[in-house]
Amino acid sequence: MSPRIGIGYDLHRLVPDRPLTLAGVQIPHDRGLLGHSDGDVVLHALCDALLGAVAQPDIGELFPDTDPAWKDADSRRFVREALARVRAAGYQIANVDLIIHAERPKLAPHKPQLRQALADLLALPPDRIGVKAKTNESLDAVGRGEALACWAAVLLEPALRNRDLRGAPFQAAGGSGRP
Ligand code: MG
Repeated sequence: MSPRIGIGYDLHRLVPDRPLTLAGVQIPHDRGLLGHSDGDVVLHALCDALLGAVAQPDIGELFPDTDPAWKDADSRRFVREALARVRAAGYQIANVDLIIHAERPKLAPHKPQLRQALADLLALPPDRIGVKAKTNESLDAVGRGEALACWAAVLLEPALRNRDLRGAPFQAAGGSGRP
């Protein structure tokens, strides 16, 4: 089995009267992300990177915004499902790298907390998770403070464990079925 790479991207509008949740962490701000779920752009981008790396359907296909089940959903549920699919395919995460585009709020003070939250969610040491924050130089919707966006890249490596964490016997996709 060769390594796999995945990329993900997401953007959500910033609107009043919504909490701002990034990587599952509530960030103090006078606006939050509009979305059918909690609008967590970081976790949505990460989710698509994980799913893409194992050629699974994307987040919009798995968790459609027309499904009331996902109304105001905690996006960590989506990442857990993506992780389960990664493990079922016989892979584990080698590292994750993120770029969050935000004019406001300033994210630098929150980066350690975001990294730790991602480490906890992905069961990875924080030194395998890169979190970068950039402004858009006051240009475009992100630059005007009307939206936040995120890019995510993941590298997957063949899993060391031969059983996934849900306890089902591991069977590589298209493989021999040997443990
Ligand atoms: Mg989204």
